[in-house]
Amino acid sequence: MLVLGLESSCDETGVALYDTEHGLLAHHIHTQMAMHAEYGGVVPELASRDHIRRVLPLTEACLHDAGKVRADIDAIAFTEGPGLAGALLTAAAVANGLGVALGKPVIGVHHLEGHLLSPLLAQPSPSFPFVALLVSGGHTQLMAVHGVGHYQLLGETLDDAAGEAFDKTAKLLGLGYPGGPALSRLADQGDPSRFTLPRPMLHSGDLDFSFAGLKTAVLTLVKKQGELDDATRADICAAFQAAVVDLMTSKCWAALKQTGLKQLVVAGGVGANRQLRAGLDAMAAKRKLKVYYPPLDLCTDNGAMIAYAGAQRLLHAREAGPFAVRPRWDLASLPAA
Ligand code: ATP
Ligand code: MG
Ligand code: FE
Repeated sequence: MLVLGLESSCDETGVALYDTEHGLLAHHIHTQMAMHAEYGGVVPELASRDHIRRVLPLTEACLHDAGKVRADIDAIAFTEGPGLAGALLTAAAVANGLGVALGKPVIGVHHLEGHLLSPLLAQPSPSFPFVALLVSGGHTQLMAVHGVGHYQLLGETLDDAAGEAFDKTAKLLGLGYPGGPALSRLADQGDPSRFTLPRPMLHSGDLDFSFAGLKTAVLTLVKKQGELDDATRADICAAFQAAVVDLMTSKCWAALKQTGLKQLVVAGGVGANRQLRAGLDAMAAKRKLKVYYPPLDLCTDNGAMIAYAGAQRLLHAREAGPFAVRPRWDLASLPAA
């Protein structure tokens, strides 16, 4: 079964062709980051208009790369939510239009289910059940995943998401938008031991996170330092990243211990962070556990994860609903496959 996946929930247009027998055949992403950078955040109306411009050319590019034509498509998956309503409508409308034109089934996919299942696109891939750490721009959750649609929330952030914490901290260090990757690059040059930052909720005894206090601690530190030179900025980045990695490593281990599961899966944009991967790998090696990550280019938003999740849902035959988008949508409310 050849599934076309369309993602347009925020500021990336992602398109992919996933074949249930041969795997990922093609995928293309257009990021609007540069367009939104001058506003310091995503401007929803600009995002929607740009998705409209990109989605069909990217679809053609995927078909071309895979050596396929539109008639070869067996089903179309699109991100139904959560996300920006206007942006979501782009992929929803294109998917449903194509579905009618080709006479093929169309399926709406939960964006976070896409992120959550994306490590299954890597080789080697985990098998159910596993613990998932979902760390994206809008979410930070630990979940026990027993199968497609069997998601048990173990803990989550009480305030900022991990990616949001990276981005906000980067912003106050003058690193632009979205600053997560820039902060991480600078942190690699810094000394994590020069400044000590708090690890909020490290010993809270539950699996929840909090990042707002960490961001405020950086703000206080920056104010105290006055004018920042490059080395100091790098050292602050390193201290911030070390705190985040400590928190996540510790909570992941606690989640594995609590559930008795032996595999950890990391998904979402922050999963691209090298130090986080190194920290989790070290913890896993010590405890004889396994950690799985999506391929680097599939950590942030993409069409491949939507095509893949859609394919899993279609293989398990969830009935297609009416044409809709869901700007707010709780992952735990999904039916089991
Ligand atoms: P959501 O999926 O929750 O709706 P989103 O789609 O915006 O949010 P993603 O695309 O999964 O989130 O991830 C984007 C986030 O990942 C941004 O906050 C970005 O700064 C962060 N990010 C990307 N690469 C890195 C990195 N190497 N280190 C830290 N953060 C990173
Ligand atoms: Mg994005
Ligand atoms: Fe996302």
